[in-house]
Amino acid sequence: MVEVSCCSSSAVLRLRRILESPRLQDLIVAVAESTGTARIVIRCDSLLSAHGMYLNQLTHATILVHPVTGLNESNLAHELIHALLKKQGYPMLPQRLFADKREEVVVELCSNITHVALGDLMSEMGFTTDDTSGQRCSRWSGCSLNGGKEPETDLTSFCAL
Ligand SMILES: [Zn+2]
Repeated sequence: MVEVSCCSSSAVLRLRRILESPRLQDLIVAVAESTGTARIVIRCDSLLSAHGMYLNQLTHATILVHPVTGLNESNLAHELIHALLKKQGYPMLPQRLFADKREEVVVELCSNITHVALGDLMSEMGFTTDDTSGQRCSRWSGCSLNGGKEPETDLTSFCAL
């Protein structure tokens, strides 16, 4: 059901060992049932700029993982859950829509909507969510007005919109 390919035999062994986790096995079955395909491909990609990536435009679930930072249960669960959420209608990163700053807004909104649900599902399934929530929170604090401290401006009227 799960096809694994990695740059080294030790990485393949490590990946196969992680995949023996009963929680991941349950998730793999759920993804196969949800997507209607028994084929799930997991490939290492050392050029990946993230821990992992779910490729959403293929007929079968395909996950890329970074061989150094992405070979862990939490990351594999994260990427597998993307397949479940896609099937449930959560937004995936769209094809490029804009050539200006609006593109960043679309990407950030899609990512946040999906990752809030993803983090909740990971917790419900018993997976560690430190990586997911940590990335989200650091991005949010990076966007705050004053480094994550209390807002200096009154946002009441904005929040009422
Ligand atoms: Zn993600």
